[in-house]
Amino acid sequence: MGIWHRRSSSSGKSPPSALAIFVEQIVERPGQRAACHLKVAEYQDFRAALSARLPGHGDPDSGLVELLAGRLVGVCPTCQMRLSAEYLEWLFAASLGLPAQRSKKAARFARGQCVNERCSSTDILLHWEPL
Ligand SMILES: [Zn+2]
Repeated sequence: MGIWHRRSSSSGKSPPSALAIFVEQIVERPGQRAACHLKVAEYQDFRAALSARLPGHGDPDSGLVELLAGRLVGVCPTCQMRLSAEYLEWLFAASLGLPAQRSKKAARFARGQCVNERCSSTDILLHWEPL
């Protein structure tokens, strides 16, 4: 009920999501640390939202990996596994491939699960850690 009440009282415009705020922070204040708690399955929404804000966003991959490399870190809130931006991007690319060609870890990522086989988390913390 709470959600419906908030929505109806907010003059038609829903408040920005945590994901939108995180993307905004990276674009507007790239020199400051930021963090966001997402579902693993929302990683693709994160990169889509971010690449839409980059110059030359007609090309979905223009400069995205270069921007994220060494700055974005994914951390599983349950098993504390750390995933570099390069690895996240590799998992994302692999998750788009044919299921038969996915590695076990990429298949777990594609299902929105932590890549650690002993972990049942479907959440990921994204940390923006500028140099
Ligand atoms: Zn985990």
